[in-house]
Amino acid sequence: MDDSTGDSIQTKRDETAETLESLRRSLFDCDRCGLCSGRTQVVFGVGDPHAQLLFVGEGPGFHEDKQGEPFVGAAGKLLTELLGQIGLTRADVYIANVVKCRPPDNRDPLPDEIEACSPHLMEQIAIIRPKVICTLGRFATKLLADTELSMTAIHGKAKPRTIGGVDLVVFPVFHPAAALYQPSNRKALEDDFAKLRRLLAHGLNAKTPEPAGRPAPAEAETQVAPVAGEALQVAKPAAPFSERADRLHGPVGDRQEQLPLW
Ligand code: URA
Repeated sequence: MDDSTGDSIQTKRDETAETLESLRRSLFDCDRCGLCSGRTQVVFGVGDPHAQLLFVGEGPGFHEDKQGEPFVGAAGKLLTELLGQIGLTRADVYIANVVKCRPPDNRDPLPDEIEACSPHLMEQIAIIRPKVICTLGRFATKLLADTELSMTAIHGKAKPRTIGGVDLVVFPVFHPAAALYQPSNRKALEDDFAKLRRLLAHGLNAKTPEPAGRPAPAEAETQVAPVAGEALQVAKPAAPFSERADRLHGPVGDRQEQLPLW
């Protein structure tokens, strides 16, 4: 890479960070929904503006509202721990929420609040251009995977989508808060994070193991049974998520596994 190519990549990265920052500043006094009256501050999002992995939760709670950063309370601690288990830190990813102001008494966000706030999230996605969005819990999953299916049916399964003009994969997992006091949810969350690591490393299409002596086809595409009620989706050719994940935590050994689609 010559100097001018390096400079233009750097310029593009600077522009992305500036665009995200100017969006953050523009929302400082947002009053598009009633949540503005009870908030301490808008909780815009935090992390690497160039992240390949974006987490989207539900909305700020008490601590997030006070500190202005998503997932800093008990659920956030668990999220940070789960990231550590797959060799990532909060600085490697971007973390945001469906609604950016705290609902009173931590109630669920209302449909009109989600509708008012989701254009901001769509803009964040269009600027960051993540490869994978990991939706934390049902509100983010419903919005970004566009589904009415339950979390139990779809957690840990990948869905290719185009959002904000970006081709990406939505990967739903249980909300960390749901795992705090429920060991079975915690186990599911840990298993799903292990899958997330493989998704980042190898994309959707793991190569199917070939019997000895037979050459592998150029791009082995394997269909996976869909979740009941949803159309079968076929994995795209292997997506090049591998470089960064391999750099972060070394090559993953289990390259033969295929992630379930839905
Ligand atoms: N729960 C969420 O969904 N988001 C946060 O930022 C914190 C807790």
